[in-house]
Amino acid sequence: MSHQIAIVGSGPSGLYVAEALAKLLPDSSIDVIDRLPTPYGLVRGGIAPDHQSTKNVSRAFEKTLSRHGTRFLGNVEIGRDLSYDELKAAYDVVVLSIGSALDRTLGVPGEDLGGVYGSAAFVGWYNGHPQHHDLAPLLDGKALAVIGNGNVALDVVRVLAKTPAELADSDICLHAARAIAAGSLTDLYLIGRRGPVEASFTPKELGELGDLERCDVIVDPRQLPDDVGPEVPEKEVKVKQRNLEILREFAAREHGAKPMRIHILFYAAPVAVLGEHRARAILLDRTRIENGRAVPTGERLELPVDAVVVAIGYLTAPFAGVPFDEKRGIFANDEGLIEPGVYAAGWCKHGPRGVVGTNRTDAQGLVQRILSELDQSPERDGKPGGAEVDRLLRERGVNVVDFAAWKRIEEAEVARAQGGKPREKFVTMDELLAAAFSKAGVE
Ligand SMILES: Cc1cc2nc3c(=O)[nH]c(=O)nc-3n(C[C@H](O)[C@H](O)[C@H](O)COP(=O)(O)OP(=O)(O)OC[C@H]3O[C@@H](n4cnc5c(N)ncnc54)[C@H](O)[C@@H]3O)c2cc1C
Repeated sequence: MSHQIAIVGSGPSGLYVAEALAKLLPDSSIDVIDRLPTPYGLVRGGIAPDHQSTKNVSRAFEKTLSRHGTRFLGNVEIGRDLSYDELKAAYDVVVLSIGSALDRTLGVPGEDLGGVYGSAAFVGWYNGHPQHHDLAPLLDGKALAVIGNGNVALDVVRVLAKTPAELADSDICLHAARAIAAGSLTDLYLIGRRGPVEASFTPKELGELGDLERCDVIVDPRQLPDDVGPEVPEKEVKVKQRNLEILREFAAREHGAKPMRIHILFYAAPVAVLGEHRARAILLDRTRIENGRAVPTGERLELPVDAVVVAIGYLTAPFAGVPFDEKRGIFANDEGLIEPGVYAAGWCKHGPRGVVGTNRTDAQGLVQRILSELDQSPERDGKPGGAEVDRLLRERGVNVVDFAAWKRIEEAEVARAQGGKPREKFVTMDELLAAAFSKAGVE
């Protein structure tokens, strides 16, 4: 039986679902739809530009997208170019895998001041996401605070701390590389409301802070416990112990020689960003941990900073007609099922956690469920599929970027890269579409 399947979102979760479906339903037609003209979601626009080996997973995704029977429909936004109801009418199965593109906010006064950025926007800026390329963050001060104790926060401080030479073989966008090189930051604060054991860093990414050419890393040894403690789940003990070892090694270092510093501050919860029009300081409650939660000690600290990046998690953008779990910021779903024939996968299903590979295991489980439900509801078969969607998009004048057009973008980006860079991304929709629809690419 040939099934008509739509996957909305071409990030890891959508493409792992496509891979598993293509294997188990080889006769099916799979349309992978993305609002951007470029596939791969956060692999292109989130993962740090100096982590090229992680970004290489896109080679496997390319195979999935180029399979006979699978199409890429880029530059098509659900909610703008096609409605949720039209998708359901056209396809036997719809999988929503749109990720979590909105920043969670601190909810403190002053968060809307100039110089305060969410990490989705900040990371999108240096990675050339067309929605964020023109963020122009203020890097003209001395100090910048990154709020959050996960790998995204580590990415942000590391990218800001690297020298042009250290970024030379990355695919950081030219505008961001120039702005960072021209910036005057000397002190980067990595701030977590809980302690080193609760931090969700992974040891490899934490360790990288210790190898930066122009930047020392400063940790107060009094904030480091002797052991991870009994609360930590068995499967996390090794990682947490390794993080503590790395932090102890940082704390024991002699400092002073390098022109920049990363200060890792634990037990500090933001209460307000202070300033008139632009951030000039961040007010922090000193905290201690009670039952795994950060509670204020009554002591406060005002830390002068010139900019703030908030990296405390993400929310899915709701769209019309799809039930939404407001508290968790994801599509309301029961183990992936949104309603008969419609499923959620990846970050919009379970929230923003896990690495790229986590989405693969998750996708395989979801596909088993889709298959068993398809077997039980044969009446869902026989929808018009991509042909109807093509008709609607043509009627609406949408310039669909197919796989061949995406490859033209990619080739043009590789061709214009200078020095050791793997690619120089196009960063505006106009540039991307010009490259997609010009055989010669864009100069
Ligand atoms: C800053 C950052 C750094 C990371 N670094 C690493 C790392 O080093 N290693 C690692 O293993 N993992 C890393 N991750 C995690 C990894 O990126 C995620 O696990 C993964 O990308 C989640 O996949 P997803 O498909 O659910 O979402 P996404 O990758 O976000 O993909 C969602 C896709 O949906 C599209 N979309 C959104 N809305 C619509 C719409 N309305 N219509 C059509 N399309 C739409 C988007 O354009 C996007 O392509 C990082 C994450 C972030 C945020």
